[in-house]
Amino acid sequence: MRLLDTLHTNLQALDALHLRRHRRTTESPCTPHVRVDGRDMLAFCSNDYLGLATHPAIIAALAEGAVRYGAGSGASHLISGHGHAHMQLEERLAAMMAGHIEMPRALYFSTGYMANMAVLGALADKDAELYSDALNHASLIDGARLSRARVHIYPHNDIDALASLLAASRASTRLIVTDGVFSMDGDIARLRQLLQLAEHHHAWLVIDDAHGFGVLGEHGRGVVEHADLRSPHLIVVGTLGKAAGVSGAFVAAHGTVIDWLVNRARPYIFSTAAAPALAHALLTSIDLIEGAEGRQRRAHLRALTQRLQSGLQLHRWQYHPMPTAIQPIVLGENSQALHATAELERLALWVPAIRPPTVPPGTARLRVTLSAAHTDADVDRLTAALNHLDSEASHAP
Ligand SMILES: *Cc1c(COP(=O)(O)O)cnc(C)c1O
Repeated sequence: MRLLDTLHTNLQALDALHLRRHRRTTESPCTPHVRVDGRDMLAFCSNDYLGLATHPAIIAALAEGAVRYGAGSGASHLISGHGHAHMQLEERLAAMMAGHIEMPRALYFSTGYMANMAVLGALADKDAELYSDALNHASLIDGARLSRARVHIYPHNDIDALASLLAASRASTRLIVTDGVFSMDGDIARLRQLLQLAEHHHAWLVIDDAHGFGVLGEHGRGVVEHADLRSPHLIVVGTLGKAAGVSGAFVAAHGTVIDWLVNRARPYIFSTAAAPALAHALLTSIDLIEGAEGRQRRAHLRALTQRLQSGLQLHRWQYHPMPTAIQPIVLGENSQALHATAELERLALWVPAIRPPTVPPGTARLRVTLSAAHTDADVDRLTAALNHLDSEASHAP
């Protein structure tokens, strides 16, 4: 039993540091008004930024896809699991990115985590150099490790630091890797400058747009549309379980890059293809994102964000207004963030406390995410609660 004792001791150590994690169990679909562990809560934590997870047309398409293609794909893409729905989705996504990537093709993955592992693992080998923003998502960090490339971590959004690192590089393969929208801060990478550097140094620019896809750009194409990027150096990863409301991810790049991934990306090759019904449902989701309804939902989301920004009057906690759906409020210590989450929960508000290692030590925070499914009244309820708790915190000894 020594092995279990070790784990038990380690779990207790997490408790002592307020770092132990627990899951909540929801009993309703992903909507702002959610039933969780038997209680009705108003949630500000999902990444369903456009409210598409419960869109009737997508639900109908998922059901239709299941009837048409069955429940599972049965094999990996290179054996027999690659179906018509996957192909259609990939063509649809490639067309969506055509303004930003030359000769674009897209590759559909079961998850964004896998897509990032695949891109970095397949494009960078041990002789490559990889340049990674200090606040990049864990899946990019793990992909960098998988690649065995030499990894340089540059300070968050620090273009000058990155430029000096690149100038000193001798490697023939270089990848600059960044979140498009940083997942725990909600800020946008300095993409135009990053792309200039990539072009100047013959490097790839890999953008993980998990939180920009669907949300940013007039047609919801994400940070590439928002920053008006176009280059043969671009490789874009978009996830499809957040704003797109379903699940999975895609890589969009020049067709030759995609061919290479199909041949070399281990997370792609050695994993069963996602259910074709998911790809079928995503065709509807992409239509909604690009079309008039997506535009309306993005406009509503922006209006809600502005409403929160003008309503919040925080004195002690640090609120950083962001041009995305992610609005972080930094409290500092883990215990403070957990206490705030517990106080909000008493008011039936569900806002997660984000602690290290997800964020740097000393920057524990409330990560408020807004969705087009929220109403003005929902946002007002949260605003009032946060203003009240912050003022109480200011008077605490
Ligand atoms: C969520 C997320 C991922 C992983 O995507 P999944 O489809 O959830 O596996 C990758 N990168 C970032 C920045 C994310 O926020």
